[in-house]
Order: sequence, then structure tokens, then C-alpha cells
Amino acid sequence: MGDRVVVILACTGCKNKNYTFIRGKKKEYKLEKNKFCKACGKSVLHKEAK
Ligand SMILES: [Zn+2]
Repeated sequence: MGDRVVVILACTGCKNKNYTFIRGKKKEYKLEKNKFCKACGKSVLHKEAK
């Protein structure tokens, strides 16, 4: 374990969980990134999924 957390980013359009990130535990901000979604066929905002 340690101080790293796996974060899943889900598409805000279709809710597919398309990306994972590793981040430090101390940073509590919510990840939001524009990423390409295959299901939507375009770049869509992805948000952290719990
Ligand atoms: Zn999508």
C-alpha cells in the first residue's frame, strides 16, 4: 500500500470508466480531465469515480 491511491476517471457523458491514475494520498482534490472517450467518440470531461 503506502501513500498512493488509484483513481478511476469516468466519462461524464456515458459513465464509462476509461482511465486510471495513481496519485498521492495527500492531494485531496478531485481529478477532472478532458480525455478521449471511445464510446462517445470525442474528447469528454472525465471525473473521478468512487
Ligand atoms: Zn463517454
